[in-house]
Amino acid sequence: MERLWAENRFTAEGHALHSVVDKPGMRKTKGVRRATGLPLASTKLGIAGMADLVEFHQKDGYETPYPIEYKRGKSKLHRADEVQLCAQAFCLEDMTGQSVPEGALFYAETKRRVAVPFDKELRELTLNIISQLKTVFASMQTPPPTTRTDRCRACSLYDLCRPKDISKPVKAWREHMTKLTLEEKEFL
Ligand code: SF4
Repeated sequence: MERLWAENRFTAEGHALHSVVDKPGMRKTKGVRRATGLPLASTKLGIAGMADLVEFHQKDGYETPYPIEYKRGKSKLHRADEVQLCAQAFCLEDMTGQSVPEGALFYAETKRRVAVPFDKELRELTLNIISQLKTVFASMQTPPPTTRTDRCRACSLYDLCRPKDISKPVKAWREHMTKLTLEEKEFL
């Protein structure tokens, strides 16, 4: 939103991992076309980004795109990685006219590919998040810091964001407004 960026150990490790797949290129391995650093966009949804790797799997004379996103850690409890991948699938479907039923997340820590089916639930969740993001961008206002403070520990933007400092005035403002409202009610 504010186009801020800061590096920490986790982002640096992510960069090192992505250096393999960030360069745009196309090659064929064991009969499968593999595109790296592939720019993606969906005019229908108004989103754009870049896929780490897209394989084009042959089936019944057609090539089905199969997006693969590289992640430095391991499989997580939340679904953010899956949502990112599903957004890539939407773009590929829009760009190629082919349905994209599945993709995969490759986690460097476990060195494993985890298959991600783009089922109805994940598609709905992803569309919902795209819509929420559009609302945030249209508001032109940076959202407040997360209430999940555990998420801030590994965030490279911590020093720029200063979530604790920001939340203090908000709390004070809320208390002030509550006091004013109560006083107003007493007066009426
Ligand atoms: S420091 Fe916390 S609130 Fe701020 S951007 Fe990072 S995760 Fe979000």
